[in-house]
Amino acid sequence: MIHTTLDNFFRFPKIPQFAQKNFTDHFLHADKVMLVLIVIQWIIATFVTSLSYDTYLYGFVGGGLITLVLLMAYRTFKGTQVMRALVGVGMMLFSLIYIQQHLGRIEMHFHVFIALAILSLYKDIIPIVVAAATTILHHFVFNFLQLHEVSLFGMPVMVFNYGCGIDIVLLHGIFVIAETLVIGYIVKLQVEYAIELNRSENKVMGLNEELSFASLHDSLTGLPNRHSLYTQLKLMVANANRYDRKFAVLFLDLDHFKNINDTLGHNVGDELLKSVADKLKSIIRENDIVARIGGDEFIIVLSDFIETTTIEPVLSKILNAFHHEWSIQSHFLRLSTSIGVSIYPDDSKEINELMKFADIAMYKAKGEGRDQFSFFTTTLNNKVHEEVAIANDMHRAFEEEEFELYYQPKIHIESGKIIGAEALLRWNHYEKGMIAPDHFIYIAENTGFILKLGTWIIEETARAIKRIQDAGYKGIHVSCNVSTRQFQNLNLYGEIKEAVRINRIDPSLLAIEITESVMLDYLEVTLEILKKIKALGVYICMDDFGTGYSSLSYLRQFPIDSLKIDKSFVDDISCTQKNETILLNTIIAMGQTLNLRVIAEGVEEEYQMEYLKERGCEFYQGYYFSKPIPEKAFFELLQKNNGVINADGELI
Ligand code: C2E
Ligand code: MG
Ligand code: MG
Repeated sequence: MIHTTLDNFFRFPKIPQFAQKNFTDHFLHADKVMLVLIVIQWIIATFVTSLSYDTYLYGFVGGGLITLVLLMAYRTFKGTQVMRALVGVGMMLFSLIYIQQHLGRIEMHFHVFIALAILSLYKDIIPIVVAAATTILHHFVFNFLQLHEVSLFGMPVMVFNYGCGIDIVLLHGIFVIAETLVIGYIVKLQVEYAIELNRSENKVMGLNEELSFASLHDSLTGLPNRHSLYTQLKLMVANANRYDRKFAVLFLDLDHFKNINDTLGHNVGDELLKSVADKLKSIIRENDIVARIGGDEFIIVLSDFIETTTIEPVLSKILNAFHHEWSIQSHFLRLSTSIGVSIYPDDSKEINELMKFADIAMYKAKGEGRDQFSFFTTTLNNKVHEEVAIANDMHRAFEEEEFELYYQPKIHIESGKIIGAEALLRWNHYEKGMIAPDHFIYIAENTGFILKLGTWIIEETARAIKRIQDAGYKGIHVSCNVSTRQFQNLNLYGEIKEAVRINRIDPSLLAIEITESVMLDYLEVTLEILKKIKALGVYICMDDFGTGYSSLSYLRQFPIDSLKIDKSFVDDISCTQKNETILLNTIIAMGQTLNLRVIAEGVEEEYQMEYLKERGCEFYQGYYFSKPIPEKAFFELLQKNNGVINADGELI
C-alpha cells in the first residue's frame, strides 16, 4: 500500500506522442516567461538592493552574468531540457545572491519556495531537481566558506545569520528536499492534468472530425448523404447559372431489393449496396455526384450539359452497369434499377422540387416495368397532384361510408350453380359517382390507407357471409382481395380471426385473394402470416395467376387452396381459331397436379366457358354470368340461380 503510494508519488508521467506538440509549445513559451522573470529579478533583486546595501558589484555583476548566460543559452537550447535545467540553476543562484545581498540577514526559504514554484510552471521535474540540488550544494559551499571566514568581494560570506554547522546545512537540505517533493508533486499533477486535457482535446477534435464526416456521409457506403448532397447541389446550381449549363438529378431505386434483404439477409443486402455504390462511383465523371439517400435509393447528379439528349447514353450506361451477376458472399445475384430524371433548370430551379420530381419520374419507371429510366414531365406532376387529392378524399369517403362491396358470383361450370362470390370494392363518390378500384386502390396502397380500408373489407366480407348464411344459403363462400401491402400489417391474421369469431361464421366460407407479388415482396413474413391464416381454416386463393413471377417452387411453399387464372389467358381463347392456348392449358394442368382448385376469371363468352369446361377447369367468374353486383342483387341472383328458400329457410 505504502509502496504503491510512494511509487505513484515518484513516477513521473511519460508524455505520450499525441501531447508532445502541446508540451513543446508550452516549454518554448515557459522559457520566455522564465527569462523575463530572470531579467526582472536581476534588476530588482540585485540592482535595487545593491544600491541600498552597497553590494553593487557582487549582486549586480553576479546576477548580470547569470542572466547573460541564460539569455545566450536560450538561443541554443530553447525548449529543451538543458534550457530548463539551466534556468533551474540560474534561479537558485539568484536566491543565493539574494541571501548574500542581504548579507544573510533574511532567511530566504520562502523565496526559494517561490522560485521553485515558478519553475513548476515548466511542467517539468528536471528544473526543480536541479534547482534543489543547486540550493543544497550552495548551502554546503557557503557553509564551508562561512566556517572558514572566507570573504567574497570584500564581504564575509554568510549563509546563515545564526551561525553555521553541518547540522544546519542538513536541516536546510531536508527543507529543500521537502519543498522539492511538494513542488515535484504539483508538477506531476500539472503534467497529468495537461496530458489528460490534451487527450480529451484530441478526442473532441477526433470526434468532431468523425462527426462532421458522419454527418455528411452515409456510414455503409461512405457516399455523401442527403445533407451533403443538398450542399453540393447548391454549388451545382451556382455553377449551372454562371456557365448557363444544365444538370440532371437522377433518382435511382433498386428493383426488388427488399426481396434480397428478406431472403438472403441484411448482410448480403449491405454488401450489395456497397458494391452498387462502388460501381456507380466508377461510372460517373469526376464532377458528377453520387449519393445515397436511403435504403436502396441513390441520387446521381450529372452536371454540365446543354442538350438533355446528351445524357441519355449515360442513363443507359448506368442501367447496363447493373446487368451482370453480382457476386456477394458466394451468392450470384441479378439486379436492376429504375431511374427517374429531372433537369435543372427546365423542370425546376428549386433543389427540393428537383429531387421530388426525379422521385416521381422514378415511380413512373417502376410502374412501366422497372429496369428503365423515365424523365419527369408536367403531366406526371399533374397526375401526382390528382393522386394526392384522391388520397386525401379517401379519408373523408371512409368516414362518410362511401365505400361498399360488390359481389361477383363464382360458378361451378359443371352444375352452373353459384358456389360463392368475390367481394370487389366500389367507391360510391358523392360527386363523381361510382369509382372502380383500379382508380384508387394503388393510391391507397401507396399511402398506406389500404391498411385501414383493408381491415374494413375483411370485416365487411365476414358480415356479408353471415348475412348470406342467415338468409339460408348454405355453403356459399365469399373471397376478398388482400393487397400485398396489407401483409405489412402485423395484425392481419388477428383481424381475420376476429372477423370470423365475431360473426360466428364457418372460416372455410371466407377466402382471401392474394397476388403473386406477395411472394416476391415479403417472402419470409408473408409465408408466416399465410400459414397462420390457413390454419384458421380460411381459404387462400392465388389471384391473377400467371401474370407474376411465381415459380413452381414458390407455389409449393405457399399454403394455397386455389389458383385463379388471369383474364388475359382467358382472352386468348378464340371463338374462330381452334388453336390451343398452351399457357392456359399448362396452368390448369399445374393446378390439378398440385391439387389446387382452379378458377378462371374474366369469362365473357360462352365459348370461353365451354373451352374451360373441356380442359377440366372447374370454376369460373366473369361477365358471361354476371358483373360484380350490389349485395341485394347478389341475393336475388342466388335465389334465382341456385334455388329458392322454403319456409324453413332451406334451399330447394
Ligand atoms: P381482381 O381481384 O382480379 O378482380 C377481378 C376484376 O376483373 C374485377 O374488376 C372485375 O370486375 C373484373 N372482371 C370480372 N369479370 C370480368 C369480365 O368478364 N370482363 C372484364 N373485362 N372484367 C371482369 P374490379 O372490380 O374493377 O377490380 C379490379 C381490381 O381491383 C381487382 O382485380 C383487385 O385487384 C382490385 N380490387 C378490387 N377490390 C379490391 C379490394 O377489396 N381490395 C383490394 N386490395 N383490391 C381490390
Ligand atoms: Mg381478385
Ligand atoms: Mg384477378
